[in-house]
Amino acid sequence: MFRVGKEEIEAVTRVIENGCFFKINSGLQETAHCEEEMKKLFNAEYVITMTSGHAALTAALIGMGIGPGDQVIVPGYTYISTAMAVTSVGAIPVIAEIDETLTLSPEDFERKITKHTKAVIPVHIQGFPCNMDKINEIAKKHNILVLEDACQADGGTYKGTRLGLCGDAGALSFNYYKVISCGEGGALLTNNRDIFEKALIYHDSSAVAFFGDQLSDVESQLFCGNEYRTNEIASAILRVQLGRLDGIIADLRRNRDYIAEKLSAHFKLRPSNDFNGGVPTTLAIEIENADKAKEYAKAIDGGCPIFTGKHVYSNWTSILAKNGAVNPNFDPFKMEANKDIIPDYSPDMCPKTLEYLSKTIYVLIEPSWTKEEMDAIVEKAIANKHILD
Ligand SMILES: *Cc1c(COP(=O)(O)O)cnc(C)c1O
Repeated sequence: MFRVGKEEIEAVTRVIENGCFFKINSGLQETAHCEEEMKKLFNAEYVITMTSGHAALTAALIGMGIGPGDQVIVPGYTYISTAMAVTSVGAIPVIAEIDETLTLSPEDFERKITKHTKAVIPVHIQGFPCNMDKINEIAKKHNILVLEDACQADGGTYKGTRLGLCGDAGALSFNYYKVISCGEGGALLTNNRDIFEKALIYHDSSAVAFFGDQLSDVESQLFCGNEYRTNEIASAILRVQLGRLDGIIADLRRNRDYIAEKLSAHFKLRPSNDFNGGVPTTLAIEIENADKAKEYAKAIDGGCPIFTGKHVYSNWTSILAKNGAVNPNFDPFKMEANKDIIPDYSPDMCPKTLEYLSKTIYVLIEPSWTKEEMDAIVEKAIANKHILD
């Protein structure tokens, strides 16, 4: 999905010739520049680049003060990493339904709130924006923090605001499968000073206070953190990738619009909370006959979300089995503080989610496709429609 070229080679060469790959004392300060550029691009007050999207989600939860005794609501359709960010801070994930947009159902989110709920993680899955207005409204009413998982939606927007900045904090990912990539990487975005400071301390084993100027005016007390620091080579690549981001998204949207326009006469498209704001790596089509979805998807070189493994909660083996850690005292599912707040997980606990995913076909979208290539895709989709009858 991501694009890469000679600019990345030049960026890596620059860092190697400089000889220092460590972000703190590198003369080039690639990471510091990268974070400044991200702040401008996304209109964020604070950005911390890290080793992964999972690291950014975890650091954000730590920054929000979430831990044992707390429930965090996650949708049943997201990569398992979202739920594991919750267990990694000792809290309990509560799985909620998605709606026909394939993102978190605001109604089920509200239904699943208990007095232990401290945060919700809406996920902009496949680049489809969540209904942030409703989610924020419900969260505010119940005094719940909102952490957006925008790992599959780098650079997308909801009503003009960049995804990741519509709630209290957000996480982006730059791993191999995302729209931009630096091998492995992630970023936390927030406009909240307190979340930023604590996430900053956490992501650098609290040692960063003794180095760089980033922390010189941090007021939060130091605590034991983890080591999620990025490095200068990844940051140099990421700076180039950031420059490509809006172009990739524009190409994705143009190609999605072209295909959507042609297919909408023949199929029912899944509704969207912000059709123009998404990062459409796929076009979602609603189908009646779930039994024939797999065969049809194969025939059109597309996909069915129900068969995407660890993206569907019913395949989150470690969560469903409540195996949170090796050491039982460190396992959120065995902690005393959590003993009354663990839901009854089961593979069929979110039936609407399974139904929506079973009745959806993805037409994959590539930013580089030509009109001819897209015409062939559209033709194939229509010609094979009989499979669904
Ligand atoms: C990729 C992804 C993550 C985790 O990102 P990593 O960089 O691989 O840690 C989290 N949530 C979702 C929805 C993702 O797709």
